Amino acid sequence: MSGKIYVVAGPSGVGKGTVIKRLFELDKNLSLSISATTRQPREGEVDGVNYYFITYDRFQEIIENGGFLEHAEYVGNFYGTPKQPVIDKAEEGFDVILEIEVQGAMQVLENMPGAKGIFILPPSFEELEKRLKGRGTETDESVMRRLETAANELGCINMFDYYVVNDTVEGAANRILEIIESRRGIEDDEE
Ligand code: 5GP
Repeated sequence: MSGKIYVVAGPSGVGKGTVIKRLFELDKNLSLSISATTRQPREGEVDGVNYYFITYDRFQEIIENGGFLEHAEYVGNFYGTPKQPVIDKAEEGFDVILEIEVQGAMQVLENMPGAKGIFILPPSFEELEKRLKGRGTETDESVMRRLETAANELGCINMFDYYVVNDTVEGAANRILEIIESRRGIEDDEE
């Protein structure tokens, strides 16, 4: 039986990365999709682990070849999900997690009927701003643009199947796991 596809989205700074890291410690039957991006690597980020860091020209080439499941521009950079690895891993029986922004998430939810959307919410907008600033990796301008984008992203929340508030990492990771476990063994057309 094939695995299922979950699109996990939510505003930048909400802690998606940390929650997903914990989720992968809790369950071994998951596979994380590695995205391609034209953004510059941050300190400590490794090509092929965090992202495939590619040029704008290469990104366009992949789009033309139909190699992305979805792609989007986010705060001046391009991000895309390589299609084949997602299909391969799902066929191998893994539940595949895509950690992507909202425009891309909506493309996947519209094009892949079996995929489910999980939206991660901050406990409050103030908390989100605090987390983004505390991260120390963004310039003031980038924090501002990410907050503006977050406000727009919240407007798309009704496209998602599940909401999870990231009050604590442990709590949020466990709630996502419950969602995934509750759907194991169910065929897509039984829903
Ligand atoms: P960051 O620059 O902070 O790594 O990521 C910025 C945003 O892009 C985050 O919301 C992240 O989830 C999203 N993102 C990462 N990979 C992809 C992707 O393949 N497709 C889309 N649409 N968004 C992505």
